Amino acid sequence: MLRNPRYDVLFEPVRIGPVTAPNRFYSVPHSSGMTNRMPRTRAAFREMKAEGGWGVVCTGYVSIHPSSDDSPLPYASLWDDDDVRTFQLMTDAVHAHGALAGIELWHGGGSVFNRTSRLPPLSPSGIAAMPTHLGFMGRVQPRAMDAAAIRELLGMQAAAARRARSAGFDIVYVYAGMGYLPHQFLLPNWNQRTDAYGGSVANRCRLVRELLEVTREAVGDRCAVALRISLEELRALPGEHAESQAHEVVAALADWTDLFDVKMDSGPTDCGPSRFSPEGSHEATMAFVKSVTSKPVVGVGRFTSPDTMVSQIRRGVLDLIGGARPSIADPFLPKKIASGREADIRECIGCNICISSWHEAVPVRCTQNPTIGEEWRRGWHPERFVQAGARDSVLVVGAGPAGLECALTLARRGFDVALADGAHALGGRLLFETGLPGLAAWRRVLDWRRSQLEALPNVSIYLDSRLTADDVREFAPRHVVIATGARWSRMLYSPLEIPVGEPQGEGVFTPDDLAAGAQLEGPIVVFDFDNHYLGGVLALHLAQKNVVTYVTPAGHASEWAVLANERPQVHVALRHAGVELRTLSRVTRFEPGTVTLADLFTGAETRLACRSLLIVGARFGEDRLYNELMREPHQLERVGIESVTCIGDALAPGAIAHAIYSGHDCGRELGAPASEKRYLRDGPLQG
Ligand code: ADP
Ligand code: SF4
Repeated sequence: MLRNPRYDVLFEPVRIGPVTAPNRFYSVPHSSGMTNRMPRTRAAFREMKAEGGWGVVCTGYVSIHPSSDDSPLPYASLWDDDDVRTFQLMTDAVHAHGALAGIELWHGGGSVFNRTSRLPPLSPSGIAAMPTHLGFMGRVQPRAMDAAAIRELLGMQAAAARRARSAGFDIVYVYAGMGYLPHQFLLPNWNQRTDAYGGSVANRCRLVRELLEVTREAVGDRCAVALRISLEELRALPGEHAESQAHEVVAALADWTDLFDVKMDSGPTDCGPSRFSPEGSHEATMAFVKSVTSKPVVGVGRFTSPDTMVSQIRRGVLDLIGGARPSIADPFLPKKIASGREADIRECIGCNICISSWHEAVPVRCTQNPTIGEEWRRGWHPERFVQAGARDSVLVVGAGPAGLECALTLARRGFDVALADGAHALGGRLLFETGLPGLAAWRRVLDWRRSQLEALPNVSIYLDSRLTADDVREFAPRHVVIATGARWSRMLYSPLEIPVGEPQGEGVFTPDDLAAGAQLEGPIVVFDFDNHYLGGVLALHLAQKNVVTYVTPAGHASEWAVLANERPQVHVALRHAGVELRTLSRVTRFEPGTVTLADLFTGAETRLACRSLLIVGARFGEDRLYNELMREPHQLERVGIESVTCIGDALAPGAIAHAIYSGHDCGRELGAPASEKRYLRDGPLQG
């Protein structure tokens, strides 16, 4: 298909200092959870974006020296020649597709604790960054840097920049954002120095300017020098000669960089979940930058719509469209626009499962794109599928995320696929959940798969078809996949987290009851120990019409969601909705009219008026159909069914990302010979 001329502007080359980006699609630095111990995994992951048409592909944060050691979080390093070789894999792979490779050189300063290197952390004035944030709480304060330490830092940056050039990078960064060391120098709250590096805006910019200078000296005219800078707090500080200190800082540094890569100051604002941050949410903070500098500007905003991208460029907000999450959810986004296939873009849903991977120190995962991070280990290409030898028939029972993804993958491999669901529409859990407050964007999980399935001739869809084991045997396909989901239980736990049974009787509900249309009478208690999004979302939903108290044994609402950058906004939203919050509390008893809570540690009891108790806790796989079929193997044989596979929540209940992954895994491997099933183990390069 032909590209829509409206999007031509996105494919214009952009000059960045001595190098030229082939188009405006810029995969900005973002964590991958892949350290230097996973060089092949990382190279293949970044390569896929270049193959998918991103004109620039960057690394995540790369430490320049052991004094910037973020362990146990998964950071990369460029400390020596061995590290150089691990990155050459990536630059070669990115260059093979005509893209530029960028590297984000990083020093964490007072926001890292050097837990492995045991070196004292560095900072402008001895003040830790983010000391109250779990994961950033260390038991050591940073030292205040003296003049010698500043000289050493400049030497570290210069040495790392030389290595970056040897590794083949085209764009080399100075990273002055997100509370890391150079950013700490820019902000007066952290930088309380009285020497030439503190006080006035010009003085606070001095370190960043010197870092840019030594970087340029080190890379010569072969690489561009980029500045990544957080502007949120600076934008809020009134300037002396301009509207804000952000204006003054950008103006002061404009001559020293070839590119501004602009961002917010912290995860929840920079990488906000779609529940709370719409596409393009950075614009209000960043729009001024181009009015202060003639240098190209890249920024992000979870852009997935080509019209929004074009609008950002035409209105002079950005020169390059930055993508982190959109490039994870669909590495082929640029090529799809280039070939007039915008409708095929697998749009990011803004769930931030990818970000939780970094917090959990594992390679990146994605709800929408199950192949991400598996390009090398499993050999999964997001757009290419090994064809099945024979055109076998498969019946997939259940059309939630797992069944949809499995059916699509099998159909792409050439199977004849029948997809059946007892419900009136495709979607499984998505049907109910995406109608809840803030979750509309998650419907893309369903919409994209449905539209892709509908376009394939070898797929038949059967709705309103709740199948029994007899039905399945009568259908008699060669393969059966069971994707029948999970059910929420009413099970409660003791303070030692041992199951203690289920409260019975009227007035006790689970999310399944709500999905089935149950009307809850207020006052309502939502007892959440699932700790992801659903408990909080249901509290917000119910609070539209009722008095709601949210109770959790955790220390915060939606405790796990801190890993997905959601927790601060969840608290704000609950407060705005008038939901009362009881943390560190367990539900111990319920009688219609009253719920009894116990303090998690002391056991002290309190009673609350409560007519409906909603328990959002454990789930169990709905695997009855699977077990029934497997109980009688000879009956399967009799009708020619060769395999029955249980996937998704029916097998092991989890987040939607896990169900999608499970469905994809089954779709890739069903009927494939053992030689095609790949599970490689990465490790440091030898020799
Ligand atoms: P997952 O997240 O694993 O995809 P979901 O709970 O979202 O699971 O979806 C499971 C789907 O399976 C639901 O749409 C449900 O209607 C369907 N389902 C469950 N049992 C049967 C059955 N026996 N026959 C047909 N569909 C079923
Ligand atoms: Fe987007 Fe969610 Fe995938 Fe992250 S995990 S890229 S937020 S869809």
